[in-house]
Amino acid sequence: MSIAQNIHTIKNSLPSHVDLIAVSKTKPVADILEAYNSGQIAFGENKIQEMAEKYELLPKDIEWHMIGHLQTNKIKYMASFVHLIHGVDSLKKLKEINKHAIKHNRTINCLLQLKIASEDTKFGMSIDEAESILNSEELKNLEHIKITGFMGMASFTDNRHIVKNEFKSLKTAAELLKKYTSFNFKPTILSMGMSGDYKIAIEEGSTMVRVGSAIFGIRNYA
Ligand SMILES: *Cc1c(COP(=O)(O)O)cnc(C)c1O
Repeated sequence: MSIAQNIHTIKNSLPSHVDLIAVSKTKPVADILEAYNSGQIAFGENKIQEMAEKYELLPKDIEWHMIGHLQTNKIKYMASFVHLIHGVDSLKKLKEINKHAIKHNRTINCLLQLKIASEDTKFGMSIDEAESILNSEELKNLEHIKITGFMGMASFTDNRHIVKNEFKSLKTAAELLKKYTSFNFKPTILSMGMSGDYKIAIEEGSTMVRVGSAIFGIRNYA
């Protein structure tokens, strides 16, 4: 099936409260354009420089989502245009994002990434760490960021029970953390689910799925 057909099929299967992020990492600009021309506006990349290069070449109404692990020293390259940063895992990074957002006179939307997988390879913070950020006075000084929800990645396994329980734990954590209040904390997004597990994620309360290979085909490198 073509990229446009894949997008059409997946979009039609999603409940109306779930947004589709087309994960275009490693894929050429031509593939992104095909998806864009079929009506897809939101794209996800996991490397800041690759995203910035694609941003330059593509229509400016595309919403760019940074879904990868964040390197603090590269935040500046996307601060002028990024739509949502999914993988924020420390107060230090929130401060850095805020600093660059000020330079561009904009507010940058962020999700806190929580570690839900038992695998050691996955990034993200514990619920305790998220609580200490959401409870901190320092968060209240960050006037140019907005935390709009949470993101997580399940273990890479065929065991659906493990995946389901990990998504369940993210949903539970997100509900628990909603008790914190700050002008820049308005959690409505739960970013969870990829090509192999987005259906389970939606059952467990996802509002945003990040789908790459099911749209663009397999990747040759990570
Ligand atoms: C690559 C990636 C995805 C998409 O993975 P697929 O299995 O190709 O759908 C989703 N989220 C993150 C954080 C990724 O790095």
